[in-house]
Amino acid sequence: MILLQDMDLSELTDFITANFQTKPYVAKQIFGWLVKNVDFDGMTNLPKSLREQLKERCVAVSARIVRTVTSALDGTQKFLFEFHDGNVVEGVLMKYKYGNTLCVSTQVGCRMGCKFCASTLNGLVRNLSAGEILGQVLAVNATGGEERFVTNVVLMGSGEPLDNFDNVVKFLRLVSASEGINISLRNISLSTCGIAPSIRKLADAELPVNLTLSLHNPDNEQRKQIMPVTNAYSVTEAVEACRYFFEKTGRRIIIEYTLIDGQNDSYAHALKLASLLRGMSAHVNVIALNPVKETGLKGTSERNLKLFLQYLDKLGVSATRRRTMGRDIEGACGQLRRRYLEGNDGN
Ligand code: SAH
Repeated sequence: MILLQDMDLSELTDFITANFQTKPYVAKQIFGWLVKNVDFDGMTNLPKSLREQLKERCVAVSARIVRTVTSALDGTQKFLFEFHDGNVVEGVLMKYKYGNTLCVSTQVGCRMGCKFCASTLNGLVRNLSAGEILGQVLAVNATGGEERFVTNVVLMGSGEPLDNFDNVVKFLRLVSASEGINISLRNISLSTCGIAPSIRKLADAELPVNLTLSLHNPDNEQRKQIMPVTNAYSVTEAVEACRYFFEKTGRRIIIEYTLIDGQNDSYAHALKLASLLRGMSAHVNVIALNPVKETGLKGTSERNLKLFLQYLDKLGVSATRRRTMGRDIEGACGQLRRRYLEGNDGN
């Protein structure tokens, strides 16, 4: 099947005019529906015969919401998206004063093997296409009843965006296209475990997104224990690539630092982190690990988290605690999907 949401307006126009003997304005009409996430049956200004022909070969809506869980505390919503082949991924919508931020997935599963993360427990199933990443945004926009409901996007759901480089870059072009939903790249954050050469490639592609490096430990040997990607690209290589990204784009780097009890939360770690980031335009986001029952790892206590932030402050490192939202519905990354697949999601 051909996913129409994979295409920009000019690709769609070429495809539709070549395959369905229509005029370009028809492609434009279809594109308008795709942006609104409307399926073929709802494309009321197209002849019925054309809709039937399209249905045979194409998919209009690439991601469907099959579960929604809403936090009673702050309205944060967790979604389960299903694709045409039955695979599912999670997304989270966080509502802030300045807008609505949607966290989307870039792969079904993940092959990076981080020891604390639920998304990687069963490895990588497959990459998502550009249209399937975009489709998550379009589906949530449709729940809000407006094309611009989602104002910010973070690529922090399941998957490693830079392990699906071409599709993610295509997604960035589609989501920021002026004829589409036109979300500025400045409102998009891409989070990576540190695939250094791809960070450099992204910098060269001149896509000024916000880059987040999931660092979690400044010590190379210790980081290897929790993040196997460190065996391929060292802490230094990843951070140097981030410096390059900053030079190219002028965008400040965000360092994600998840505190794991007794593993990365000492003064020595803060000291090493400070020296690693010296002279770099970076901000550290600190968060306590969300326990995932399969991993056996524990988050740092409230007291030690505050201490760690104080260490960073004294060392002159710009750092804040990342606000946790949707505490009552959380289930750390990937857990709603796991429960759904195990048939224990209560529905
Ligand atoms: N692969 C990308 C993006 C997906 S993970 C990356 O590594 O950045 C999004 C963020 O959640 C990453 O910073 C990841 O390290 C973090 N994370 C994963 N599992 C977690 C858990 N159990 N508790 C807290 N943060 C977690």
